[in-house]
Amino acid sequence: MTRAVVTGAAGFIGSHLCAHLLASGDSVLGIDSLTDYYDPALKERNLRDLIPHPSFAFRRGDLLEAALEPLLDGADVVYHLAGQPGVRPSWGKDFELYARRNVLASQRLLEAMRDRPLRKFVYASSSSVYGDAPVIPTGESVCPRPLTPYGVTKLSAEHLCEVYRMSFGLPAVSLRLFSVYGPRQRPDMALARLIEAALTGGPFPLHGNGEQVRDFTYVRDVVTAMRDAACSSFTGVANLGGDAPVSMKHAIAAVERLVGPVNLDPRPGSRGEARHTAADIALAARAFGYRPRTELDDGLAAMADQTVIDLARRPESGSTGPRAMWRGIT
Ligand code: NAD
Repeated sequence: MTRAVVTGAAGFIGSHLCAHLLASGDSVLGIDSLTDYYDPALKERNLRDLIPHPSFAFRRGDLLEAALEPLLDGADVVYHLAGQPGVRPSWGKDFELYARRNVLASQRLLEAMRDRPLRKFVYASSSSVYGDAPVIPTGESVCPRPLTPYGVTKLSAEHLCEVYRMSFGLPAVSLRLFSVYGPRQRPDMALARLIEAALTGGPFPLHGNGEQVRDFTYVRDVVTAMRDAACSSFTGVANLGGDAPVSMKHAIAAVERLVGPVNLDPRPGSRGEARHTAADIALAARAFGYRPRTELDDGLAAMADQTVIDLARRPESGSTGPRAMWRGIT
């Protein structure tokens, strides 16, 4: 049985990864400090189905302070997803949080793993390291030029992984994730806000003209690839994209077809927002058999199902709106 440690286990992707690892027969120790970046009740929800599993253990702890050695003892694979996400808030005074949670916390973890006989260290990097890439779809050989402070911190942590790989032989893989979506997506992310707006009739703030293109990648495809990468002999950096990039306008139309009309609230474009992201996934396909399997419409439908359940559970919700009956879930 593979013993896995997952940092950021209570988060959106981390909780899906834990479920996938457990279903694959691994034992999992999840670590998370439960930051207040978004409603902590959502993190409790993310952990709810994991906690009763006999092969799952959870420790609340901050990678910046916790004694990491005992947590890492006996680990075969470490998946490092803990971090401070969100592109827009990374400007200004909150940058310190990004530097601490994405760079310093990663360095502390890497240092604690230096001389351990680890099979693999998998880091959740980001497409934001590319910025506005000059080549579309973008391969790993394109020089990263992040456009936001968030992207800078993700690239710094990726470089740290490479430094520990080259200097200490740490078998590190950095996977550059492109706009991950699916049930329980972080509430600050565009598709989560879009689906909630369609279900509740509330406004959806659309930044820019909607022509920006994103390579939306379904969360189940991402966590499957993370484990496949851990089981392979591959080390280094690889993209994980969805292979069918679409504009925000296209995504809005898809949600409207699925759920209902969206009340758009046009806003100016955001500073540092890339115009077009699209992953070249040939390397991941070759190295560990990556193939995104989920079509956008199917992924959005699964997300909408979960959002209906979440809206009905919210204390302020009467769950009686006409769209709360969508697909028969009340
Ligand atoms: P999330 O905020 O839902 O999950 C991150 C988790 O990390 C949170 O539960 C938080 O409490 C925890 N955390 C933060 N700092 C910590 C620390 N110092 N010690 C312990 N726990 C800490 O975010 P997510 O969307 O699930 O993203 C997971 C990872 O994937 C992040 O590193 C993010 O940068 C990366 N990523 C996400 C996307 C995406 O589309 N969601 C895209 C590219 C990269």
